[in-house]
Amino acid sequence: MNTKRQNYLNSVLTGFKGVVLFNEPMSQHTSFKIGGPAEALVFPENEAELSEIIRLARTKRVPLLMLGEGTNLLVRDGGIRGIVVSLSSKLAGDGFRNIVQIKEDAGGVYIYAGAGVSLPILLNYTVQKGLSGLEFAAGIPGSLGGAVIMNAGSYGKEIRDLLDSVRIVDRGGDIVELPAKGISLRYRSTHIPGIAVVGAVLRLQRGETERIRATIKEHLLRKKETQPVARPNAGSIFKNPEGMTAWKLIDSVGMRGASIGKAIVSERHTNFIINNGGAKARDVLSLIRLIGSRVERETGVTLELEVRIVGA
Ligand SMILES: Cc1cc2nc3c(=O)[nH]c(=O)nc-3n(C[C@H](O)[C@H](O)[C@H](O)COP(=O)(O)OP(=O)(O)OC[C@H]3O[C@@H](n4cnc5c(N)ncnc54)[C@H](O)[C@@H]3O)c2cc1C
Repeated sequence: MNTKRQNYLNSVLTGFKGVVLFNEPMSQHTSFKIGGPAEALVFPENEAELSEIIRLARTKRVPLLMLGEGTNLLVRDGGIRGIVVSLSSKLAGDGFRNIVQIKEDAGGVYIYAGAGVSLPILLNYTVQKGLSGLEFAAGIPGSLGGAVIMNAGSYGKEIRDLLDSVRIVDRGGDIVELPAKGISLRYRSTHIPGIAVVGAVLRLQRGETERIRATIKEHLLRKKETQPVARPNAGSIFKNPEGMTAWKLIDSVGMRGASIGKAIVSERHTNFIINNGGAKARDVLSLIRLIGSRVERETGVTLELEVRIVGA
């Protein structure tokens, strides 16, 4: 980014009190450890500031991308133009990482959590309070905001099963509470009529702490055995086609262990691509294209991406 562009973004962000990192390598903010620089990575202090950034980006026509913990993202090597907003980093205001019980009735126990709360921390909170419902999320990294947008799930359950309402910032920069019923939540995709998730209310049930712990332990063990959890990756690359599993299709066309540059199809889970040290986004993208075309040619199935590809 040249000085003129940085000065322009600086002027767009005039009055913004939170932290701004210019030219920030996204490889430091994604679980893949891949990605060129974001022109401006910003960490708002509160909802009012977040609303203001969204308004400014709109009026000044600067592209804006919401970032969670970057566990489902492939950022291209050329980086991201415009403003990237993070609510999950400690550099953003604590309010985005609040968890509070708001009510309890015959329907269950209602918890409000900020979009920046990390899913493992939220899961730990539910265990401490003896609340059941989120056990499926054991081993899913990322923030609650990302989990809502991806409708994250595992073992046949997903966020939509618990979601009571979502607090968002709409396109005009206003905060709006939306009942989950009014939102389109599909398999690994949620459409919100707005730009940012700032928090969500989840409906949980009172449960037995020991049973909750045991289920979580079982899930974590299974993930450890079946996923390359210790290597940089972005989770499942492709969605499972209806009635099929992507990893089996990929395996059936002989792609286990296939590599381009430093990007490798995991031996442990063929729907995961690993960054074997210094992989470029272009390596991963070439590997994704190769897998997709081979699966299509040999099985007739078109795989759809689960991982989100952003940047230039
Ligand atoms: C080892 C590993 C295992 C995984 N296992 C699973 C699994 O079992 N099941 C599963 O579903 N996923 C899994 N994932 C994928 C990933 O963890 C989930 O999709 C997660 O919910 C993404 O959250 P995030 O905060 O990292 O979002 P990011 O990757 O940062 O973003 C994902 C999308 O959400 C948007 N977004 C993020 N925060 C906000 C916000 N506050 N407002 C508006 N938009 C926002 C982003 O713009 C992007 O489009 C796995 C990933 C890894 C690395």
